[in-house]
Amino acid sequence: MQHQSKLPNIGTTIFSVMSALANKHQAINLSQGFPNFKSDQKLIDLVSKAMNSGYNQYAPMPGSLVLRNAISKKFENLYNSSYHPESEITVTAGATQAIYTIISALIRQDDEVIIFRPAYDCYEPAIEINGGKTISIQLKAPNYNVDWEAVKQKITSKTKMIIINSPQNPSGTIFSEADMLELQKITEGTDIIVLSDEVYEHIVFDGEKHQSVCLFHGLKSRSFITASFGKTFHNTGWKLGYCCAPKVLMEEFRKVHQFNVFSVNHPAQIALADYLNEEEHYNSLPDFFQQKRDLFLNLIKDSRFNFKPSQGTYFQVLNYEDITTENDLKFAERLTVENKIASIPMSVFNDNNQDYKVLRFCFAKTDDTLKQAAEILNKV
Ligand code: PMP
Ligand code: GLN
Repeated sequence: MQHQSKLPNIGTTIFSVMSALANKHQAINLSQGFPNFKSDQKLIDLVSKAMNSGYNQYAPMPGSLVLRNAISKKFENLYNSSYHPESEITVTAGATQAIYTIISALIRQDDEVIIFRPAYDCYEPAIEINGGKTISIQLKAPNYNVDWEAVKQKITSKTKMIIINSPQNPSGTIFSEADMLELQKITEGTDIIVLSDEVYEHIVFDGEKHQSVCLFHGLKSRSFITASFGKTFHNTGWKLGYCCAPKVLMEEFRKVHQFNVFSVNHPAQIALADYLNEEEHYNSLPDFFQQKRDLFLNLIKDSRFNFKPSQGTYFQVLNYEDITTENDLKFAERLTVENKIASIPMSVFNDNNQDYKVLRFCFAKTDDTLKQAAEILNKV
């Protein structure tokens, strides 16, 4: 059979590749971002309770209303910002589906979408398959600061969307209030849509504050927010998340969502609604993950890797230029096969796969795993 691929340049995502390699070689897997500790038993019991109470048929298309109410309440509590549960919040199969649905609902042939690199890998294929054009802005290690004047220069009459992601995967950096104000300023008076991927909103360190797009009135009216319960409550395998946007944008989102998935796992939604009502469940996360970051960095401080502490997410970027001149794909592979520790080579997220000799390590792991990992890294 002859066919022409719609995505001729896309292979298998690095997360599948590195996890498979880690499993094959029984390496400690700090590559793909998922916790290796259990999600709260209370939450698991709530899912079981929901199943036993009969929540086993389709959830309403936009999501269970009790969960949308709980999400709305969380926005009020954290950001003093309101999203109407009926018309401005939709529960999704993780942030990945939300991101794909937003892009396919809004992006037409030749529309331009600005992204910041290194960028999470699901943005570009979604833009491309919908006929859009990715406009990349490469940020430089170790600070990954944005030159907003350069961003302004990239805006054209074809710019339909800007995708931001703070805290940022894979760099572990965050946008400051000043960054958000700049973004607001350069897009003021335009119809440019902002897709703000906020899956790590609860994982911000050193007392810094998450700068949600909903805190900026000039941006909120043109923005989608995507979020992930998998990242927040340590159960990435449940694939549940949500999307918020002003009504007019959410209407477009739901036109696609209803035929994309219709609705998502019902019992887990009921459980999450209950669980989310206790604020401590998300307010405790920055300290919980900061303890892990600090433990990991303290243990490897005398290694030959160089680093700036992650400001958010559960990823730490390590520079290895004092160790080898190998490219990051080769080095990541060798560390997995020979040293039995898997990471993610950052070049896959860069413009033209540029190699800056940095690897990404996930520290959402038990203290024991982090200690074993550090022991290996100290010997490299
Ligand atoms: N965006 C970013 C930046 C991510 O790191 C991830 C992975 N959690 C996602 C989106 C996708 O989230 P989910 O697993 O909920 O689909
Ligand atoms: N978000 C996770 C990471 O960055 C991976 C999710 C996935 O495997 N698609 O590692």
